[in-house]
Amino acid sequence: MNAICIKCWNPDALVKMHLDGSGDFECGECEETFTCEEVRDTLDAMQGKWARLIGWAESYPKDEDVK
Ligand SMILES: [Zn+2]
Repeated sequence: MNAICIKCWNPDALVKMHLDGSGDFECGECEETFTCEEVRDTLDAMQGKWARLIGWAESYPKDEDVK
């Protein structure tokens, strides 16, 4: 599975890990460089936002409840 760039989210972008020991990643599409820490922060933030959206969607009245 290809890692998806956290900068451009292009599913076709090739994300490479720098082999210089930095452990950074570079996206072949937008040429942004980011660290493991940034990936973790971005995904945490996204997960938090999605958790709220999902909570809202699931508590939203369904069709059959609206009479
Ligand atoms: Zn990118």
